[in-house]
Amino acid sequence: MDAVTAPPPAAVEIVALTKRYAAGTPPAVDRIDLRIASGSYCCLLGPSGCGKSTTLRMVAGHESVSSGDILLDNRNITHLPAAARGTAMMFQSFALFPHLSALDNVAFSLKMKGVSRVERHRRAAQLLDRVAMGHLAQRKPGELSGGQQQRVALARALITEPRVLLLDEPLSALDPFLRIQMRAELRRWQQDLGLTFIHVTHSQEEAMALADTMVVMNQGLIEQVGTPHEVYNHPASEFVARFMGGHNVLALPHGLIAVRNDHMRIAPEGEGEGLAATITDVEYQGTYVLIGLRLADAAPAMREASVQLAEKSFAARPYSVGEHVRLSWSAADARALGPGAIRPEAPPAGTPSVRQPLSALATMAA
Ligand code: ADP
Ligand code: MG
Repeated sequence: MDAVTAPPPAAVEIVALTKRYAAGTPPAVDRIDLRIASGSYCCLLGPSGCGKSTTLRMVAGHESVSSGDILLDNRNITHLPAAARGTAMMFQSFALFPHLSALDNVAFSLKMKGVSRVERHRRAAQLLDRVAMGHLAQRKPGELSGGQQQRVALARALITEPRVLLLDEPLSALDPFLRIQMRAELRRWQQDLGLTFIHVTHSQEEAMALADTMVVMNQGLIEQVGTPHEVYNHPASEFVARFMGGHNVLALPHGLIAVRNDHMRIAPEGEGEGLAATITDVEYQGTYVLIGLRLADAAPAMREASVQLAEKSFAARPYSVGEHVRLSWSAADARALGPGAIRPEAPPAGTPSVRQPLSALATMAA
């Protein structure tokens, strides 16, 4: 089949997938279930160590599965070798061979498969044309810009005619400016090729910018699956609200709620109603001012809050550190938070959750 006319993209289905690296240790991935729509851009998002790469490597066939199944287009690929799965991997900072030309980098996996030199160069040249790199086929990676290297890496992954492209933190080694350019390009390529992309990142911003579907992971479990809009506007759990950022988690008598910090109202102490708080930080951020606060009547772990004020509102009524204020919000902007992902072997309902406290987040986010 021609490399340029890829077969229709496939849906990936993950069923009770588990990875335990060593007996007696907690599983790195704990019986997760996930279905990824055909032709969609899926981001696995979560703090360092939550099991994103392990999940991706099991899908790629670079890591054995402890139990569970991986299906691609209803075909069980769980125990197939990596090269027979219909997946391809694009690595961090592209991992091109520095001593090979762009053409030979792209042709490399065909060389490993014993495809003749003429044929592999023909197909590599065709793919480089496809990513608008045909004219630079003889350059080595060091003679290419970051964007050009990314396109070579993409062509190299595509030469195996994958139906699913797997990307493990492909942008995290780039400087911030290039990272934003490259992610826009990845999104364009995904739409253009119509392939299923599964992209691992620890960056909320990156996942929100790219994903059709975001999968938020925490300690080997999936906390929430949804569009970026759903996840940001309706975080399912305290973990998701805190990890996504931009939310205040508040303990009310009937349970925890999350309120976006740009949906909070702030008023001087004598002029408003709501929670009493003291301003601890005032940070100018350009279009808005971020005000950090300490709530007067909250448990220690729930004491911090923030309010994002439009620059104009702040200019109209500036606040300063140490000032006593009141915080309020509209009921419509409050999101009730559920318990989040429950471990499969969780005790019966009614007993306390075995999940670790959220204070673990700070140490995991390194
Ligand atoms: P992420 O990609 O989300 O940062 P990983 O999937 O790399 O997380 O790791 C999940 C957990 O599994 C971590 O606790 C990590 O230390 C552990 N882990 C990852 N790879 C190995 C390995 N090869 N051997 C043993 N433990 C591993
Ligand atoms: Mg990783």
